[in-house]
Amino acid sequence: TPDAVAPRRRSRFATGAPDAASADHVGTGAAAPRFRNAMDTDPSVAEHRRWAARIVGPDSGFVPVQAPEVADVATIDAAVARAAEVREQWAAVPAAGRARVLREAARRLEARRGDLVAAAVHEAGKTVAETDPEVTEAIDFATYYADAAEALADVGGADFTPDGVTLVTPPWNFPVAIPIGGALAALAAGSTVIAKPAPPTPRCYELAVEAVHDALEAVAPEIGLAADVARDAVQYLRVPDGDLGKHLVTHPGVARVVLTGSIETAELFARWRPERPVLAETSGKNALVVTPSADLDLAVADVVRSAFGHAGQKCSAASLVILVGSVGDATTATGERFLRQLVDAVRSLAVGLPTSLSTVMGPLTEPAAGKLARALTTLEPGETWLVEPRRLDAEAVDAGIDPDRLWTPGLRDGVVPGSFFHLTEVFGPVLGIMHAETLDEAIATQNQVSFGLTGGIHSLDADEVATWLDRVEVGNAYVNRHITGAIVQRQSFGGWKASAVGPGAKAGGPNYVAQLGAWSDSATQD
Ligand code: GLU
Repeated sequence: TPDAVAPRRRSRFATGAPDAASADHVGTGAAAPRFRNAMDTDPSVAEHRRWAARIVGPDSGFVPVQAPEVADVATIDAAVARAAEVREQWAAVPAAGRARVLREAARRLEARRGDLVAAAVHEAGKTVAETDPEVTEAIDFATYYADAAEALADVGGADFTPDGVTLVTPPWNFPVAIPIGGALAALAAGSTVIAKPAPPTPRCYELAVEAVHDALEAVAPEIGLAADVARDAVQYLRVPDGDLGKHLVTHPGVARVVLTGSIETAELFARWRPERPVLAETSGKNALVVTPSADLDLAVADVVRSAFGHAGQKCSAASLVILVGSVGDATTATGERFLRQLVDAVRSLAVGLPTSLSTVMGPLTEPAAGKLARALTTLEPGETWLVEPRRLDAEAVDAGIDPDRLWTPGLRDGVVPGSFFHLTEVFGPVLGIMHAETLDEAIATQNQVSFGLTGGIHSLDADEVATWLDRVEVGNAYVNRHITGAIVQRQSFGGWKASAVGPGAKAGGPNYVAQLGAWSDSATQD
């Protein structure tokens, strides 16, 4: 329904605990004490070499997906029925037992790290440098949601009833962390799970679910469950999009849908399930603001990393950089230096196949089409190319992939407020430059988009930073840091305005598990 996706303020979970607006969601780049997820940071050379043999050598760990694609509604009905059947037993496992399973899952995901990296490289075209930290994030989710399961049991004065069967339907851009993170959160709450992979990346989810199945079976005797009951708490189901997908999403046995995907898909699901819960993290059109007080070298590096990591195929990616005053004026020393360094940095990105460890920007997961094809090939009025994207036809043919998957990055200047490129998510390797005379104007431009997922500022002026933090309308606000790669617990991840649907607690944050069920106030029921 339109209401469900209407722009709204940052929400607080019904129990009153602060969530999205709390200060720990402001990333400063300082070291995280506990969680190691260093999404987007470069693994060391030694680590690269260690994984190389598993991924590109003759002993590559990649095995294609094992489960067949679902071909009929009876298979879906049976899986939902089984998940519903075992749900009561799973929900009756004390919080400490559910946490025990999640901690075991963390260990088993770590043991499969090489295979998970290989699967993401092969299926999504993600580089090793992007994928290895993603596996770490998946493990962090398991550990963090184990703590969250225990915390649920400790809430005084309120009773929690977990949702019934939860459908977790993730995207292909984070094919390991988002799918298994959703499943683990639902398990932590006491729900059972239908795990539906995104069609391009089925093996990534299958492998991660195998790790969770192994954990469930291993811990089953300790928590008083039969092994098959424990295992069936997660049903992996390769349901294709289309009629079968709709059958699953609208299934009366599915209590809640957890979606990460485009705003269009979220709107469709909300129409398909009127009155029934959908929790979605959707699109973004994210900008980084750079002011003249910034450390310009750091700003260039963070802009490039935010825009072109995983070829820009992140909801969190920087699609716009808004240059304040002299930073965007090539006739000043500041502007000349910033723009020259930015152009050089974009031109120097090594584009190629993810199986080569020297590749910094890999291929698109799916051939460029629609909005992305427009963004890669067509300038809007007022714009010029500072770096024009090129399709690497010969290299793609050599590699046996669709040429529309292999593009060099693009940098367009002069994006006009209100234009197609200012307001539309394109989800690919194109960055647009906008110009603002003042910080106020930059913030207004940033907030003009309907989405509100991530945003950043590079500024060494404390007043500028305070003003920006006060006014920017994004779920994840980053200061003097790249705007991708949220770290579990430290920068729980989620959107504001049209970037979120549902209660709005953020993944990897304090209330994420607590929103997957219903609360009643036991204190008032005397
Ligand atoms: N959590 C990821 C990040 O912080 C983004 C997830 C997404 O693209 O959906 O970069």
